[in-house]
Amino acid sequence: MSLTLDEARALHAEICVLDLHADTAKLMDKLGYDLAARHERPMPRRVNVFGHVDLPRLREGGVAGQFFSFWTTPYPERGCARAVASQLDALDAAMARHPAELAWTRTGADVRAAKAAGRIAALGGIEGGQALEGQLGAIEAFSRRGVRYLGLLHFSANAIGRPAKGRGADADAGLTGFGRDAVRECERCGVIVDLAHINRRGFFEALELATRPVMVSHTGVAGVHPHWRNIDDEQLRAVADNGGCVGVIFARRFLGGASIDAVVDHILHVIDVAGEDVPALGSDFDGFVVPPIGLEDVAALPNLTVALSRRGVPPRALEKILGGNVLRVLDAVPAWGALEGPA
Ligand SMILES: [Zn+2]
Repeated sequence: MSLTLDEARALHAEICVLDLHADTAKLMDKLGYDLAARHERPMPRRVNVFGHVDLPRLREGGVAGQFFSFWTTPYPERGCARAVASQLDALDAAMARHPAELAWTRTGADVRAAKAAGRIAALGGIEGGQALEGQLGAIEAFSRRGVRYLGLLHFSANAIGRPAKGRGADADAGLTGFGRDAVRECERCGVIVDLAHINRRGFFEALELATRPVMVSHTGVAGVHPHWRNIDDEQLRAVADNGGCVGVIFARRFLGGASIDAVVDHILHVIDVAGEDVPALGSDFDGFVVPPIGLEDVAALPNLTVALSRRGVPPRALEKILGGNVLRVLDAVPAWGALEGPA
């Protein structure tokens, strides 16, 4: 019943494995991190906070597509849009240097085509609505550059709403008028609404407004480890009702455990509460998180597939967790408009 490591690798080769959240583009932009070079696998120690992702290790991990999440320091708000554009530029430059290895993709069909051509699919998302700088039109502009999701909040209040924790947190405040317009504009522009980091009230208000599936790109679940960063069972069921997906994070402090089985515990809880059409991978690699032992970098991903199978997850559900659920959401929120290159 349970898969060997070789069998897990064979499964990855056959299906489309996708991860919803890595902060690698910031390293490329600010530190000149070379995505095409193999970086040494970090040791399983507390200092392992970035350097988790590159093209050789994405291949080794059997990953078809990686969402690169573009984040910004929110103060001052002015400059946040430029900071996202700069990370998009860094990714575009990597694709221009390695066109046979890396492809910019927006749809499920794009990801499948990239895999068939032996290229790693890159997808883009934004972490934090401050990147809009209060301009609704920024959503269309980012969409035209290929951005597929907008994380409404990060670690501070912005024009859209309030974070689960951080500067300006307020449990009683929901989405602003601008925030409600932003959710509608995302749907118009084929940008998936990402509810990671938003406070509980804003979470449910956004789901109420949404007419398309949403995602929570990277989170733990409170049913396994109660923590301000993790979403509860009611939130999981609401995402299931919406047809969306939830990327389970690989960060020890949000998982409440240091072994790969902590990730399995969170994924199994999502299945128990919300069904097998909801869980996905949301590593948060390169996001200053410490991944669990056995999952030190993206190359180690087949270990998670083995660990899930040992706990009784059948291949059909593995395919959904490892990428099928994300492909479904990508298809349900069609990419929109013509793709534009760097300005
Ligand atoms: Zn985050």
